[in-house]
Amino acid sequence: MEQRLRLHHNLVREIMVCTLCRLHEARKNPVPGEGPIPSRVMIVGEAPGRKEDEAGRPFVGQAGRLLDKLLALANLSRSEVYITNVVKCRPPGNRDPRHDEIAACMSYLSRQIQLVEPEIIMAVGRIAGATLYRMAGLRWRGIRADRGKLVYGTIAGRKVGIYATFHPAAALYNREILPLLEDDFRRLGDILRGNKGRSLLDFL
Ligand code: SF4
Repeated sequence: MEQRLRLHHNLVREIMVCTLCRLHEARKNPVPGEGPIPSRVMIVGEAPGRKEDEAGRPFVGQAGRLLDKLLALANLSRSEVYITNVVKCRPPGNRDPRHDEIAACMSYLSRQIQLVEPEIIMAVGRIAGATLYRMAGLRWRGIRADRGKLVYGTIAGRKVGIYATFHPAAALYNREILPLLEDDFRRLGDILRGNKGRSLLDFL
């Protein structure tokens, strides 16, 4: 365990000084991610926004507060999940991260998955969903087609469940999304409760 924490500490230090892609140029703070190691659930978003860039922490501000409420629907608190993003530095003006930026940052996400050993990775938003499906060798059909489905794949040599849903920020300006997001988090809670004491990997 201690070694795992040390490896995570080293990983965070690498991210803090990373210049592998152009996103380092305008960032105030990289946002490596945070949470317990190991953790049954990992939440992966797209990229830090303005508040996250200022704070150096993932999912702060309005979207973060909504995420906390959604986690409560799954009977989870923020302190029980590991939270990170596909890219660790804020894209200027909150534009989508580009393919080369995602590719440059992907090894950090792989190493986080190896260290956190999640049973389920909840991919929030289309970019997180598409990236995790690709990393797992799965075919991504889009957020509306693939949200709310637990699928399995192998990432960084580990079998893992991937569960995609909308990004909480999307529900802040499109209220139609909110009930769907709530359903997905409630179902996450059902899945975790149903398998309490057993690893989901036992079902593979
Ligand atoms: S986004 Fe990732 S690859 Fe790009 S500079 Fe930040 S940490 Fe490095």
